Amino acid sequence: MEKRQKVRFIFDYLQKLFPDPQTELNYSNPFQLILAVVLSAQTTDKQVNKVTDILFKKIKSPEDIIKLWQTQLTESIKSIWLYKWKAKNIFVLSQIMLSQHYISSFEKSRSKKLKNIFDKYWYYIADQIKELQKLPGVGEKTAKVVSHVLYGSKVIAVDTHVHRISNRLGLVKTNMPEQTSKLLEKVVPNKYKDFSHHALVLFWRYYCTARKPKCDECELKKVCRYYKELSK
Ligand code: SF4
Repeated sequence: MEKRQKVRFIFDYLQKLFPDPQTELNYSNPFQLILAVVLSAQTTDKQVNKVTDILFKKIKSPEDIIKLWQTQLTESIKSIWLYKWKAKNIFVLSQIMLSQHYISSFEKSRSKKLKNIFDKYWYYIADQIKELQKLPGVGEKTAKVVSHVLYGSKVIAVDTHVHRISNRLGLVKTNMPEQTSKLLEKVVPNKYKDFSHHALVLFWRYYCTARKPKCDECELKKVCRYYKELSK
């Protein structure tokens, strides 16, 4: 099967498995989403949700973070990997979001059609990946996830799971997530970019798991590089 056909075959199958894939992180406004994604670096969504289920009862906006103080925030998230570093980033990113500079650069970047759906919490989140990446703790992956979930940007965020599954399937042949990210953007047609990040994450989580991929029931085995290598 030639490469373009293979890509279509893979993403048509994933779309069949996950017709409307969504993030499994809990949040009720965009500010909470950005915090949840920052907390999720090298941490499972399940662990993050455990912490945010309590934290988000009192945290709805950057002002709430500032009121909480960095020491209390650190204490609230201490079951999470790299919690001190993440608490510091969340505190500083909240300060930045409240600063006039951030708000005015955000005002310039937001598009007119989104104006109607803004409420006071939407107000603080930029819709541009490069703007989001100016915040501490927000790398390319986090910025892409936030931009994709909030604004439907046609981008593919690549974490270690998306990196691994993309290599397993043979969509790319890379060593680092950054390389995978660049290649996937080229290889995956736009029409699949709406759902590809979440579909790949869920496929890794529930089917093509790290230790015991469910190859027997997987229709992708006829194109999967990893399965072919295992069957040699
Ligand atoms: S065939 Fe196995 S390794 Fe390949 S994508 Fe399916 S579950 Fe994963």
